[in-house]
Amino acid sequence: MLGPLPEFVDPFRLARRQARMNGAIPVAEMSRIGPLVRDDSGVAEVVLRFRMSASGVPRAEGRIRLTAHLTCQRCLAPLDLELAPELRVAFTDGGEAAGRAELAAGYEPLEGGGRTGLTTIIEDEILLALPDFSMHPPGVCNSAGETGAPRPEDSPFSGLRAQLQRSRT
Ligand SMILES: [Zn+2]
Repeated sequence: MLGPLPEFVDPFRLARRQARMNGAIPVAEMSRIGPLVRDDSGVAEVVLRFRMSASGVPRAEGRIRLTAHLTCQRCLAPLDLELAPELRVAFTDGGEAAGRAELAAGYEPLEGGGRTGLTTIIEDEILLALPDFSMHPPGVCNSAGETGAPRPEDSPFSGLRAQLQRSRT
């Protein structure tokens, strides 16, 4: 079992020490993920390695692992999705030239300063990794009228659309 990840870190200090960091963030503590999942049990496991670039910019790379408890948008049954997004960020402090250089080197430039919100960075990466439209693979789905393609009435916005139609009549 991994220990908790610190909410804030000092990337300069960690990069100078070439620190490795392992930790977990409970999904329940990530307020922007909660509304997107069926239930917020489980934890995101994070492995990070900090390094200083040749020009003195602290970088972090690593991987997040998370089983997202979602809802299939075709059959509305539970759907567990394994996510393992990779993370490559550079703490450029908003310097434009440094930002461009880091981007060219394959790192996502971030503004941080001495106090960087690690939880926020991890949450952003998970949000990017979540699918727009989560569904079981064809043949596994519980839906009787399976067509292999999402029907408009299965969209999460169908309730909204129905409401709009009712209000017009
Ligand atoms: Zn399904």
